[in-house]
Formats: sequence, structure tokens, C-alpha cells
Amino acid sequence: TSQNVSAQLDKQEIWQKDRDHFMHPWTDFSTFKESGSMIFNQADGVSIQDADGKRYLDGIGGLWCVNIGYGRDEIAEAVADQIRDIPYFSTFGHHTTAPAARLAAKLAELAPGDLNHVFYGCGGSVANDTAVRMIHFYFNQLGQPSKKQIISRIDGYHGSTYMAMSITGVKFDHIGFDIDQQLVHHISCPNPYRRPEDQSLEAFCDEKVKELEDKILELGPDNVAAFFAEPIMGAGGVIVPPEGYHRKTLEVCRKYDVLYVSDEVVTAFGRLGHMFASEDEFGIVPDIITCAKGLTSGYLPLGATIFSDRIYEVISKPQADGAIFTHGFTYSGHPVSCAAGLKNIEIMEREGLCAHVEDVGDYFERRLHELEDLEIVGDVRGRKFMMCLENVADKTTKELIAPEAKVGNRIADECQQRGLIVRPLAHMNILSPTLILNREHVDFVVATLRESIEAATESLKADGYLPR
Ligand code: PLP
Repeated sequence: TSQNVSAQLDKQEIWQKDRDHFMHPWTDFSTFKESGSMIFNQADGVSIQDADGKRYLDGIGGLWCVNIGYGRDEIAEAVADQIRDIPYFSTFGHHTTAPAARLAAKLAELAPGDLNHVFYGCGGSVANDTAVRMIHFYFNQLGQPSKKQIISRIDGYHGSTYMAMSITGVKFDHIGFDIDQQLVHHISCPNPYRRPEDQSLEAFCDEKVKELEDKILELGPDNVAAFFAEPIMGAGGVIVPPEGYHRKTLEVCRKYDVLYVSDEVVTAFGRLGHMFASEDEFGIVPDIITCAKGLTSGYLPLGATIFSDRIYEVISKPQADGAIFTHGFTYSGHPVSCAAGLKNIEIMEREGLCAHVEDVGDYFERRLHELEDLEIVGDVRGRKFMMCLENVADKTTKELIAPEAKVGNRIADECQQRGLIVRPLAHMNILSPTLILNREHVDFVVATLRESIEAATESLKADGYLPR
């Protein structure tokens, strides 16, 4: 039909323009130049649809962010209303808008402990950069200008701005780029799956905690400003640290007056069944929480750095030397993004999404563990709607399949053919779906993964990457 023909033409035009001019983030351009992009043009509930009209269950929730699912008219209306009322005004100095103020108060109410103050940016990277600048300003104001060094972990991911990427510890992400090694120091990753075979979880945990303390002592406590950690590492491969790790690392930080920054860009707003995971899931009240993604469920860009009364007291004092908090962005507290964030949180609370995640997320976790019987599935890990499958050549030795076999991509491609989008991450596959998944959706995801992993295993054998 003529409609189909025009859809075809549009698709070709978009494919071409995209390939020639849109420089995608995190993309291997050697293959991109050949294959270009897959185009998505519709989304509803838990699913997205490509330009050919084929539907897929979105197993990655956009990019661990579309927490309330797609197609929410309420958000569209809140956003449209806000644009009509006042689409933008500067919040520098003494001006504000209702959504920015209301959302800040709401975040203060939801965040643990005395984290009662909110600084807005446009995403997670900027929330972390803001945390660093704030921490440096804080120690300068306290008359401790030597306290500047940042400690973070191998395989931690904190974003793509220069500072956030320096704090990031995923080695692959640094290849070919520079990071600030004067300011940032990485300690090892608390990955229980890769611990020595004869080491207990407790001993492993204590070793990792001691490593933080040793690093602080090596750098000198007077020089160390902050420790950055995700409650569960996301892009580093969904690493759940051993029991007690966060509590004990926080104790070490307290001992040496090092601020603890909990990067909740992925874990906040329901992904683990809580508005924030730091206290509710891991029993810690950090000094700063950074968040983004699920804050608006990805409907509009927004990030926040939420910080304690103690920090606020210091950075808000009248300063003898005239230093004021000279940090901020044109779009800090953007009213339209904040309106989307407020409506998003209202929907989550009204629908009891956290309780839903406690229930169905638990089922998801349990059902995914069933895949551990598959030949190449070495580890299934994560919690609730933040999960990862680690594929290996040998489940006993945990040896990896050759990187050029691209096992993560093979599985993702098999899933895609069967109507499911999962994220390949080197030899792993990540699952971070919308939080509105029901049990039937979960059953589809698990059955599709099983078939896809079996098919990928066969192709790996056919190509000589695994023994027959
Ligand atoms: N921190 C964590 C834990 C993340 O997973 C991400 C993004 O995936 C970021 C920070 C960076 O956020 P953004 O991409 O919004 O800048």
C-alpha cells in the first residue's frame, strides 16, 4: 500500500541521516558504518516497536531508566501543562518555579537521614561531577584544602564527563582516553563470583574493606575527601557486594572523615523495590546520594545531587573570603523536567510500584536463577529488576569465552529475533526492564533467554569457540 511505501521511504531516509550525521554514544563506528541503526518509533507499557512494526519486550528499560513504563499520558500532560505555564526560567540566585521547589522537598522527604538538600543537573554524570565540586568546596570552606583525593572502585561506573569517567573504574571504558589520575584512585571490585575459591565471603568482604582503609592511609587521611560507590555496580556487571560491605566501608569513611557518596543513578526509584536503596536495602545513610534515570523514568533529562544538613551548613555559611557556591547549569531545576519527575514519583507511589517490585522482582530474580543449569551460564546475579547473566566457557574454572566470539552480542541478537531486547555487555547480558513487568512478562523473558542462550551456545560450537 502507499502507506507502507511512505513508511519504507521514511525508514531509509532516517537510517541514512542517522548513519551519516548522528554520532552515537558508546558506539563501535567500524561496525556502525556498515549496519547503521535500528529505528524505534513507538512504545507502550513494557514494550517498544521498531519502524517495521515489530514489537519487543524492552528488557533494559530504555537504559535502566524507564521505570514506570512507556506511554504514560499523565506525564505528557504534566509536561505540556508546565510548558504552557512557564517552560523555563533561570534558578540562579533567588528565583524558582513550583516544580523545582516541590520536587526538592519530595526528594528530601524520600531520601534517608538528613539528606535534605537537592542540587539539580541534567543526568547522572553531572550529578557526580557536582558532588566532587561540592565536596572540594566543602573542605576548602572548612579550612582543610588538602582534602581533595577521591577513591572509587574498579568496575564502578559513574558517567562520561571528564571527572565522572575518571571516577569510573571500568578499564575498558578508559581505553584510548585519558582520566585524571592525580585526583582519583581505584580500589578493587567486591565481586564475590571472582573471589579466590577457598576464601569465605566474610573474609573476602573484610579484605575489600581493609583495602579502602589501606588506600586512605597510603594517601593520608588529610588528603582524602570522598569515597564513591554504587550500592550495586551496574555497568560494571551488576556486582552485588558481600553482606556488610557498604556498612563497613561507611564506618571506615567516618573514621577518617571521608565523605561517602552513594551513586544511586540506577538503584533509586524502585529498581530494587525502594525509592532509595542505600538505607532500605543496604542499611547505610551516606553523605551524598546522586541520582538521575528513574527520577523522571527517562521521560525528560534530570539528575540530582542530594546532600546532608552537615554539608549544607558548611557550604551555605556567609564566607569571610567572599566565596559563594559558584556552580550550576542553565538547566539546573528545569521546571519541565521537574514536573515530569514529580508526576513520575506520584505515579510510583499511587501504584505501589516499590511493593510490586518486591513481589514480581523477587519472582524475576528466582526465575532467572533457573538459567544457571545452562552450559555457559556461569553466574546469575543482581537483585529484583537489576540482573545480569555472566557467560563462561567453563563453569568450574570460570574461564571466559574468547572475546572475539562476542557471546553477549550473540545472545542479545537471538533474543531480539524472538522479540526481546537485552543488553550485551562484553561476555555478559544485563536485564533492567521497566518495573511494571508482570509474572507473564517474566515467564516470557526467561523462556526467551533460555532458547536464545541455547541457540547461541550451538553457534559458538559451530564456530569452534566451544568444544562440541
Ligand atoms: N552513575 C551510574 C551508576 C550510571 O549507571 C550512570 C549511567 O548509566 C551514570 C552514573 C551516568 O549517568 P548519565 O548517563 O545520566 O550521565
